[in-house]
Amino acid sequence: MAVAMGKAEVTQCPLEQTALKLSTVPCGQVHSVETMGTLDGPGLRFVIFLQGCPLHCAYCHNRDTWSRSGGQLMTVDQVWAQLLRYRPYMEASGGGVTVSGGEPLLQAPFVASLFHRCHQAGIHTALDTSGFASLRQQAVTDLLAQTDLVLLSLKAMDRALHLRLTGVPPEPTRRFAAYLAEHAIPAWIRVVIIPGITDTPANLEPLAAYVSSLPNVTRVELLPFTKLGEPKWTALGDRSPLADVRAAGDQDVARAATFLVEHGLPARLLSPDCLPDR
Ligand code: SF4
Repeated sequence: MAVAMGKAEVTQCPLEQTALKLSTVPCGQVHSVETMGTLDGPGLRFVIFLQGCPLHCAYCHNRDTWSRSGGQLMTVDQVWAQLLRYRPYMEASGGGVTVSGGEPLLQAPFVASLFHRCHQAGIHTALDTSGFASLRQQAVTDLLAQTDLVLLSLKAMDRALHLRLTGVPPEPTRRFAAYLAEHAIPAWIRVVIIPGITDTPANLEPLAAYVSSLPNVTRVELLPFTKLGEPKWTALGDRSPLADVRAAGDQDVARAATFLVEHGLPARLLSPDCLPDR
């Protein structure tokens, strides 16, 4: 997941002052947009970061997206008008639109409506998510029907570690991953490599087996834990629980990649960025 940088280009939703129901004309609570993202899916991406997240990841880069009350309300039309300006770059690069967060599944009706518009125009859609949502919500499955690629973060394999790192249990994400596999929805798996915490054999060995069992996974990205998000914690009067943990380097990522392959993960799935000889 990219670091949401600012609130540029976000304008006020005209529905804010009206009595129209948001369920009939979906509005999104938008934190910010990134117009030429290169980290969240293939090609150049128009990335929309949404407000609100039910997780509290200890390593969160976007700590300022947790609250549902921040950001700006925007209609699909408003977001659409902005992203259309970048369509030539998306098309030339094999890119598209990515919705990230926060947790975009919290605003599934809005994202589904936006992705439906993208599909009508032939624009590729990607959803950057923790998968922490109930599949009993029609809006969530409607959204997945409009999603070309899911960037699914797996936080930790061990339940206790998952709870400690995120504040929530892993079962909803596992059910979400199973749904993606059953419906053959392409997915990239993302794992943050935190030295001494997620790069241990106890985490990586079951991770290799689990990811290898998901036939819809087309890529595995290992993302180094960094300190780039810590100023956001500080600005909110908070302290990152991992403030005393060092950032991960290329060698940590390469070591984890090698371990995963040695324990059964097909090497072709690993993002080239993770490989030892980069
Ligand atoms: S899922 Fe975790 S890392 Fe992503 S925005 Fe929420 S708290 Fe931050």
